[in-house]
Amino acid sequence: MNIESDTASSHPRLLRHYIDGEFVAGDVTFQDLSPVDGSQVALVCEADAQAVDRAVRAARAAQLAGWRDTTPAQRADWLYRIAQGIEAHFDAFVATEVADTGRPVAQARTLDVARGIANFRIFADLVRTANSEFFETHTSDGGELINYVTRKPLGVVGIISPWNLPLLLLTWKVAPALAMGNCVVAKPSEETPGSATLLAEVIHEVGLPRGVFNLIHGHGPNAAGEFLTRHSDISAITFTGESRTGSTIMKTVADGVKDISFELGGKNAAVVFADADFDAAVDGVAKSSFTNAGQVCLCSERVYVERPIFERFVAALKQKAQALRVGAPEDPATTMGPLISQHHRDKVLSYFRLAVEEGANVVTGGDVPHFGDARDRGAFVNPTIWTGLPDTARCVTEEIFGPVCHVAPFDSEDEVISRVNHSAYGLAASIWTTHLTRGHRVARQIETGIVWVNAWFVRDLRTPFGGAKLSGIGREGGRHSLDFYSELTNICVKIG
Ligand code: NAD
Repeated sequence: MNIESDTASSHPRLLRHYIDGEFVAGDVTFQDLSPVDGSQVALVCEADAQAVDRAVRAARAAQLAGWRDTTPAQRADWLYRIAQGIEAHFDAFVATEVADTGRPVAQARTLDVARGIANFRIFADLVRTANSEFFETHTSDGGELINYVTRKPLGVVGIISPWNLPLLLLTWKVAPALAMGNCVVAKPSEETPGSATLLAEVIHEVGLPRGVFNLIHGHGPNAAGEFLTRHSDISAITFTGESRTGSTIMKTVADGVKDISFELGGKNAAVVFADADFDAAVDGVAKSSFTNAGQVCLCSERVYVERPIFERFVAALKQKAQALRVGAPEDPATTMGPLISQHHRDKVLSYFRLAVEEGANVVTGGDVPHFGDARDRGAFVNPTIWTGLPDTARCVTEEIFGPVCHVAPFDSEDEVISRVNHSAYGLAASIWTTHLTRGHRVARQIETGIVWVNAWFVRDLRTPFGGAKLSGIGREGGRHSLDFYSELTNICVKIG
């Protein structure tokens, strides 16, 4: 397998499944299209139920054949080797991620691929140094017990990932699952199958035992994704994607009472107090609304600004939005790429129309750019800011997942906390203030899995990550991932 020459070839790649240590094709394929100009990036094999079954069986067999008995140090070693393998093909990963998503090259280099590597290293470090809980207990009759907790692998973990940060979000789950001694069947999004295939090639190249990591391509409902969640020999499903899909998967796995971990959608709020460092807040909110064309689950689509600085803030945010350079990924001037697909653009544009119907004032954007070249066949939209909508408007309550935010004024701390929390979602929030105690006080009252104060999209990967309400079930990250990907057993021994 020659990763560099494959990606540099002028022929479209055929992206195959990786099952039991072999790359295998199928009879049915679908097109992977560029969101930049609609051209074909690759042909992708669509896994049928038999292919999914073969992958799950291979994973189970590899588990029993010895992967579950490897030591944490041995598994850490494999993870370091995979990280090194990605690093060795860094440019190929960047090119593939850019071809699938259209994002600026710099972002793919500094965020997507860099985090893909880091995910393997951090879980290698964690599993090597993980310790166990231990309790000494005295009973009322003078007896003495010791309790210690062991972690065993779950078995075969099904991993289903989305398109918005393809390598980052896939490896965020593959790395800890392998680290804890599980075998894996992974299904990346049908929109972004490229970097997952490269990952399989790296895993093949480093020689991970066959069947430990398997990759299947395909769609979700009534297709590869659903076949995976329906499979009776899957021990757990870890999923990142839309809340509605999470709900469907939950129903599918309910009969088997499978372990689940769900990282789902959001309708995140940014709150700017009048005492905030104004420039830092404008900069931070612009990043949190428009990074990756708003296609990060943590992006802010609701912005609340304290009334004395509201007009000034909207004007400054408008300037930031208008300064973004929407364009092709390889142009160094580009700061915002396209949406992932025409289908997703149709959805975002339907919200642009709905906002006007709901009475929004369009501060900037609300339309598509015209380039006069092949990019007009792409999935671009302009960064968009609205004001003037009530909190009950669909554009203020529903996740849009595009470069768009609604900015509203507020008058008091209690009022803004209640408005932020009045949401079906609970993934993330950011607060901008120079008032130290206010930052802490407000953060503790926000009903989300993460709250930033004077920051956005940075965190220590050892911390718990996940959402409240419709935004997810469970937490991953650091020891929380180690806990999810293992069966904890308490061993209680009477010693006196
Ligand atoms: P999606 O739910 O449409 O698809 C995600 C994955 O699920 C894809 O691989 C898809 O093929 C598969 N799938 C779809 N239906 C399925 C089914 N019935 N059974 C099994 N698999 C199925 O999500 P998307 O559009 O790819 O991603 C965007 C969404 O992901 C947004 O809602 C975003 O907020 C969310 N997201 C959340 C986080 C987080 O950490 N909370 C991170 C990134 C993205």
